[in-house]
Amino acid sequence: MELYSGDAYLSIKSDLLSSDEEEKYKSESGTQTQKCLSNKGKLSSNSIMKASISSGMKQIIPTNKPKRRRVKLMNWKRYHKLNVIYSFLDELEKDYPAICTVSVIGKSVEGRDIKMLKISNSDASNAAVWLDASIHSREWISTAVVTYLAEFIAKNFQKHPKSITNKDWHIVPVLNPDGYVFTHTKDRMWRKNRAHHEGERVGVDLNRNFSYGWGNNGDQGSSGEPTNVFYRGPAPFSEPETAAVRDTILGSASPFKVFLSFHSYFELIIFPWGYKCEPCPDYLHLLEAGTVMARVFA
Ligand SMILES: [Zn+2]
Repeated sequence: MELYSGDAYLSIKSDLLSSDEEEKYKSESGTQTQKCLSNKGKLSSNSIMKASISSGMKQIIPTNKPKRRRVKLMNWKRYHKLNVIYSFLDELEKDYPAICTVSVIGKSVEGRDIKMLKISNSDASNAAVWLDASIHSREWISTAVVTYLAEFIAKNFQKHPKSITNKDWHIVPVLNPDGYVFTHTKDRMWRKNRAHHEGERVGVDLNRNFSYGWGNNGDQGSSGEPTNVFYRGPAPFSEPETAAVRDTILGSASPFKVFLSFHSYFELIIFPWGYKCEPCPDYLHLLEAGTVMARVFA
C-alpha cells in the first residue's frame, strides 16, 4: 500500500509471501518500515444522504434509509468473489447516489473491468485520496478491508469529521481482477496479473511495474525474469492495470494527497524510499503519519 503525501508517498504494505519471498521482501522494503495494521473499529448507524443542487454546489442532506434488499450481498465474515465485490460497489452507488460514483478506470489483461468507487461531496476544494487492494491477487483480506472502509465512509458520511468529508475517496477494491478470479478458480496462491510475456502466461508483479526506480536495483526487490514471482514486466507501466492507476491519478481534477495500497499479511506500514536507504524529502512527515496510523491500528 502506498500513500502519496505532498512530494512523496507513504506505503503500507504487508504481503502474503512464502518464507523465501519474505527474505526478498525484507530487502525490498528497505529501512523505512513502521508498525502495523490490525482491524479495529465499528460500523456506526446508517446515515443516508441526498444531494440537492443549490447555487451550483451539491449539498448533502439526510433522507430516508435505502430500501432493504432481499439479499444482502456483502458481509465481512467471509471472502467474496469478484462479481459480488463489484455488485457491492454498484449497490453503494444506488444507495448513496449523492456521494458515490462507480466507474471503470481500465480493463485488465483478460478484459475484465477495473472498477473504482469514488465517494465525494463534490466540493471543489477537496483533496483526493487513493485506496487500492488486491494488486496481489491472493491477498484477499486487503479487499475486505477497503470494502469495509468504503461502506463505513459512505454510510456515515454526514457524521464524519471534516477531515473525512473534505476528501475525494477513490477506492479500487480489486486492482488485479484477473489474478483475483484465478485465485478463486485455479490457484489460491497466484500473486501476479495474467499477462503473456515471452510467449507464456507468466504474469507481472504489478506493484513492481510502476515507473519510479523501475529495475534500478537489478534483481534486488524485483526481477527481470518472467517466471519469477517478482517479475517487474518488460517496461514500466507495461500492464493495463498499472496504466489505469497512472491515468486515473494524472487525470484527476482534485490533487492527490494520499496514496495507500493495501496488502497482506505483514503488519507493516512502508513508505519511500523502497529502493534505497536514503530518506526521501518528506521523510519526517511520512514517518509522523505512519506512526499515527500504527498507533490507531494497534
Ligand atoms: Zn502484496
